[in-house]
Amino acid sequence: MSEKIESYPGEELKSSDIREGKVPSVRHRPRVRYLWAAGVAMSRFLEGLKDGKIIGSHCTKCGRIMVPPRAFCEECFKPVDGYTAVKDTGAINTYSVSYVAGDASRIKEPILVAVIDLDGASKGMGILHLLGEIDDWKTIKFGMRVKAVWKPAEERTGTITDIKYFKPMKEV
Ligand SMILES: [Zn+2]
Repeated sequence: MSEKIESYPGEELKSSDIREGKVPSVRHRPRVRYLWAAGVAMSRFLEGLKDGKIIGSHCTKCGRIMVPPRAFCEECFKPVDGYTAVKDTGAINTYSVSYVAGDASRIKEPILVAVIDLDGASKGMGILHLLGEIDDWKTIKFGMRVKAVWKPAEERTGTITDIKYFKPMKEV
């Protein structure tokens, strides 16, 4: 036996009733704090950045040097054999001229975002970063040589922004 409920007791509340103060309400902004473990490989990468080094991991079976480092070689299905610094120079693999900032707001002066193949890393191991010290983005070429511009050591915190951007190795 089922009986359809036509109406519930009490009065239905709308969100506008709360907004307009028609019913008592409490606002609470919780102070939520959390930590996130970066893991073995990424922790080494981030510690390396603090020291002004770009760390990769290597696998002796396939010979690859992976950047950012992995703890596990996804080609060989085995843990990596160690960690090593690669150079902070490389070549532009691809790039984008973006009129949208990191917070999705529109910007008048574009930011230049590139995938950079680092010297010493295996093929296809590019990292995504900003390009800087380029007056005219139309002068950017695929394969153009670039070098990391680091924050001063005392300002580094172990984040990817410890590298400010990559700049051309020759005047553009
Ligand atoms: Zn491997």
